[in-house]
Parts: sequence; C-alpha cells; structure tokens
Amino acid sequence: MNAKEIRKLFPILDQEVNGHPLVYLDSAATSQKPYTVIEALNNYYREDNSNVHRGVHTLGTRATDKYEGAREKVRRFINAPSTSEIIFTRGTTTSINTIASSFGNDHVKEGDEIVISYMEHHSNLIPWQQLAKKKGAILKYVPMKEDGTITLDDVRNTVTSNTKIVAIMHVSNVLGTINPIKDITKIAHENGAFMVVDGAQSTPHMKIDVQDLDCDFYAFSGHKMCGPTGIGVLYGKKHHLENMEPVEFGGEMIDFVDLYDSTWKELPWKFEAGTPIIAGAIGLGAAIDFLEEIGMENITKHEHHLAAYALNKLSEVEGVTVYGPKDPMQRAGLVTFNVDDVHPHDVATVLDAEGIAVRAGHHCAQPLMKWLKVSATARASFYLYNTEEDIDRFVAGLLKTKEYFSDVF
Ligand code: PLP
Repeated sequence: MNAKEIRKLFPILDQEVNGHPLVYLDSAATSQKPYTVIEALNNYYREDNSNVHRGVHTLGTRATDKYEGAREKVRRFINAPSTSEIIFTRGTTTSINTIASSFGNDHVKEGDEIVISYMEHHSNLIPWQQLAKKKGAILKYVPMKEDGTITLDDVRNTVTSNTKIVAIMHVSNVLGTINPIKDITKIAHENGAFMVVDGAQSTPHMKIDVQDLDCDFYAFSGHKMCGPTGIGVLYGKKHHLENMEPVEFGGEMIDFVDLYDSTWKELPWKFEAGTPIIAGAIGLGAAIDFLEEIGMENITKHEHHLAAYALNKLSEVEGVTVYGPKDPMQRAGLVTFNVDDVHPHDVATVLDAEGIAVRAGHHCAQPLMKWLKVSATARASFYLYNTEEDIDRFVAGLLKTKEYFSDVF
C-alpha cells in the first residue's frame, strides 16, 4: 500500500480546512486515527463495555479478554519478554513520572548523579529535576554537538560510577535526532547506572526491541501511534518492577486489604490502580495491528524519504533555518525550522489559512530552545499517511508566508 492509499484509511484527512484540502503535518504532537482504531473503540462501547477483572458475566469476560489481549499485542510489538512487564498508563509523561517517583526515589541518594540531555522533552526532564532536588542529587547534561546530536564519547565523559540513572529520549521531538540508545544503555550499565528511555517519538515510527536495546525502562504514548489519547505504556524489566512500590493505591491493584495493612496484586496489575483505561488499551491494540499490517520497516523507510525530500526542498527556500542533523538517515520524519524575521506562530497561522497544520512554539523543550538561541520554532512532522504532495503544498505555503510578510514589513 502506498501513502496515498494509506491516507484514505484515515477519515479525518478527507476534509477541507479554510477552503483547502487538509495537509496534516503535526503527527509528532498527535497522530490521526485510522478507521480500524475508531471501529475498535466503537465496537467495544457498543458491544463489550464492562469493567475488567471483576465480573464473572459474559461482557466482563469479553472486556477483560480484549484488554489483556491488547497487553499481549504491546508485548509483541516491542518484543518484551513478558506481559507482566507491560504497564498501561496515561502516556509517556505518566510512565516517566512513575519511574522517577518509585524506582528513582528508591535508588537515588544524596550526591548521586542523574544524567539527561539538553534535547529532552519536559516529560523526561522535570521528573528528574524534581527527584534531584528532593534527594540532593546532581542533574547532569550530556553535551550536544552543533548539529543536535550527542556522541558516545560525550556520554562516556558524563556518565560516572556515581551515576544512578541515565534518562534519554530515543528520538527528539524537535531536532528529529535518533539517539544511539543501545550504545548509551551499554555505557550506563558499564557504570552501574539504570537506563530509562523516552520512546514517545520512536515507537510510532520504527521497530522497537526492548530486549535488544537492553534498557531498564521504556515509555511511550498510544496517541502518537494511531491509537487513542489517554493510553500509554511503561515497559520495565521484571525484577525492577517487582521490587518497585506502586505510586497509586486503591481498587484493582490490591490482593488483600485489612484495617491497617494491605498487599498488592502481582505484576502488571499492582501499577494499575482503579478502573483501567480499557477502551484506550483496546484502541492501542487495534493501532498496533494496523501499524504491523503496514510494516514498521516500511513506515520508517517512507518517513526517511519524506524527511530527505523536505530537507532538500527547504534548502531551496531562502531565509529558512532548519535545526537538527543534516543527514536524513540520522533523523526521524520531522523538520523543525524558522523563517527569517517571521515569528513561528505567524508561519503556522499563514499555513493554516492554506489548510496546512504545523506546530509552532517551544515544543515542551524550553532548555533546548535556549540552547538553539530561539524562543520558539515551527515544526512539520510526517507520518505514514503523508505524501510528497503534502510537502510540496507545505513548501509552497512557506513561500507564500515569506511573500506575505515581505509585503507587511
Ligand atoms: N516525550 C516526547 C519526546 C514527546 O514528544 C512527548 C509528546 O509530545 C512526550 C514525551 C509526552 O507525551 P504525552 O504527552 O503523550 O505524555
């Protein structure tokens, strides 16, 4: 199936915005959903809606089977050894907060180091900043090269035997940089540190194998990979999860409750307090089926092609600064840029008038904006349903933006 055919499987893309056919270039913020995912949600609510793990009635059994079936799909998708290592959360943010406030709280002491990078999303920065403050630990940043990459030598020079946690994003939501997570994990482990990976921008776009990466934790969000909002995943190695305290308490996660003490269910349920995100998990399972049918290798290849095509087209537009690695093979399918003398919000507004959706702002990465010496940028991000024509429309829109603002000033 080519991108044009795939596009037809996403009903939302078949519309006009401001009088123009919609070009959606904001999938890094959230992806669109195919018919199959919408139908899976619809069918669950129409036919199977019931609480899970509790009832003995038929609807309860069906809902539980679908919910736990989705967990198995996630396990297979990231090649985790066991479904007990797959915790359903609200998303990447909740997953990383859970790791920091449980595992981090137990393992980090005063004077220990936590190593992150300048390119981290606030979700993989603030939880560690808070933990470091609470514990009197030292937050260290791996230096970044001019082109927005980090080198293994710099990682080696930053991580020491005092480092307890290394927390790095797999793919940058701003620079598009693909970080060498397997090698970074090796360096972390050689120093006795644990590796946490923010997989929000990688899992939707490339084949993830947590056993091959050997990371201790991996976090991602369903809504960026054709699934619904409100569902995400925390993968953790079993022995870590087993030894971790839950961060939320209440129904669903308990084994026995007495007046002054309680015990917890086994994994993964001890981390899923309260009625879980049943429809969300089922929708994520349908999204995984969809992505697997297209093939993750095909998706990666298509996005590399679009990134190369966009970088090439943008290099022909005067006054456009593109951030991140120049080599399309070193970056994922997004392009963050600025246009001389035009604020990124104005760029996004003019493009919107042409029916083209891009993101403008600090992209939840304020320290990175500071590092880039800008207050904000615009970003076009691609997914399996985008085509070369989308990029042509986007570049034509940028030329129009430049023209419009050259008249204004
Ligand atoms: N990490 C990265 C790299 C992201 O791009 C995002 C979302 O944009 C997040 C974390 C947070 O994801 P969520 O808002 O789904 O928790």
